[in-house]
Amino acid sequence: MIPNWLLQRAYLTPNRIAIYDETEAISFAELHERTAKRARQLVFLGVKKGDVVAILMKNSAHMVELIHALHYIGAIVLLQNVRLSVDEVKWQLEHSGARFVICDEPFPDERAIEWSEVTQLGERDEKWQTMYNLDDVATIMYTSGTTGKPKGVMQTYGNHWWSAIGSALNLGLREDDCWLAAVPFFHVSGLSILMRSVIYGIGVYVMSSFDAKRINELIFQQNITMMSAVSTMVQQMIQELKAPYPSSFRCMLVGGGPVPLPLLQSCAYWNIPVYQTYGMTETASQVATLSPDARHKQGSAGKPLFHMNVRIEKEGKQLNANEVGEIVVKGPSVMKGYWRNEEGTAAVLKDGWLHTGDIGYMDDEGFLYVLDRRSDLIISGGENVYPAEIESVLLQHEAVKEAGVVGVADETWGQVPCAFVVLHDVTATEEQLKQFCMNKLAKYKVPKRIYIVDHLPRNAANKLMRHKLKKWINE
Ligand code: ATP
Ligand code: MG
Repeated sequence: MIPNWLLQRAYLTPNRIAIYDETEAISFAELHERTAKRARQLVFLGVKKGDVVAILMKNSAHMVELIHALHYIGAIVLLQNVRLSVDEVKWQLEHSGARFVICDEPFPDERAIEWSEVTQLGERDEKWQTMYNLDDVATIMYTSGTTGKPKGVMQTYGNHWWSAIGSALNLGLREDDCWLAAVPFFHVSGLSILMRSVIYGIGVYVMSSFDAKRINELIFQQNITMMSAVSTMVQQMIQELKAPYPSSFRCMLVGGGPVPLPLLQSCAYWNIPVYQTYGMTETASQVATLSPDARHKQGSAGKPLFHMNVRIEKEGKQLNANEVGEIVVKGPSVMKGYWRNEEGTAAVLKDGWLHTGDIGYMDDEGFLYVLDRRSDLIISGGENVYPAEIESVLLQHEAVKEAGVVGVADETWGQVPCAFVVLHDVTATEEQLKQFCMNKLAKYKVPKRIYIVDHLPRNAANKLMRHKLKKWINE
């Protein structure tokens, strides 16, 4: 058991700022007041300890209140992606057994209640969860479904606690830290910022949608010291830059996928301290993180956080350094399992070891390299081809803005890689790009076709959905 994080913060550091947005700065004491009122209103609505309550919202200060309020009551918060279709949202509500879904906008479902209605409700007093049981489920998040049907990851209070502690032990902690949240709270990259805020007592700058120009302004005003991002966000921020970042900005945590080498190089040029990280919904955020001073390890996701164990396996056996296999991880931030999905849980969690479905290796100094998802691996003429490797080569070409690679059935080779690119410079041709790949890659890795398109299919986390690219080829 551990004290309720926001309650404890409101007691220990009431005057520190918890939340900033474009209109106000809210202290921990004030955030607690607002949260307590919302909790009383939710109790009035009929929310009870143990209920699943969904939130379908864009980032906002009131979304933060709502998450904490549900935890005051002891409800389990289901965070839903606002970009899902109505049917997908309903499927999650059904599957999770949610009693309500609280949303910004009207949503066609009998369980839906709008935020504006919540604020009008009466209030009923209830005893708060003044202590959190580390083994209780705090949040459920369905994985983005990049590889298939979404699974409801159960994240406990303990998972969030350890994730926050592990991150601080690695990145350090400063009283004046302020973490910019431009990634959505319905993904673990965003939610984990809120958990860190109340555990560390630091501010969060809440952004409802990504705005590269505005973020740069905030960083130059020296208000923001840390930020979480995916690489496409960083790329857009760099395009807006005229001067290098000030040294007050100390950490750009970039995850969700590999960071292309040319981007890392421009980050070094613009004084952007990139920490590449590897993690997933199932581990309540970071598993391993690479600090910018490990320059000689470029392309690595770094070493595991203090509380995490990482090993590489093949057919149940642990491999040696530099051997490629599945990344398996163990530690107190690994999920309890998938909600109402024993079979799915048993398939990935064995003796506490989470089988990530990602392929990679550890070098002899213990740095982790993530190659790709097992399911996206292309086997061409018996050779393993990692789409991420080809994408990163394509991105080195000046004309290429975005790249996605998938395997396509081929009579001779079984599968061959094909690429989709979005261009900065539309005069570049498929032939030129192939020639460029030819110079940098083994022949069997050179995409057989390179399709020039105007956008790539990405999910709300800005992640490339390779299974959709496969469909594009078949259409
Ligand atoms: P689903 O499990 O439904 O297919 P998802 O795996 O995309 O969805 P997330 O939990 O958001 O959902 O993403 C975690 C995955 O992102 C990791 O398992 C890994 O494949 C990829 N990833 C994260 N960080 C990195 C990294 N640094 N390098 C390469 N891949 C990464
Ligand atoms: Mg996954």
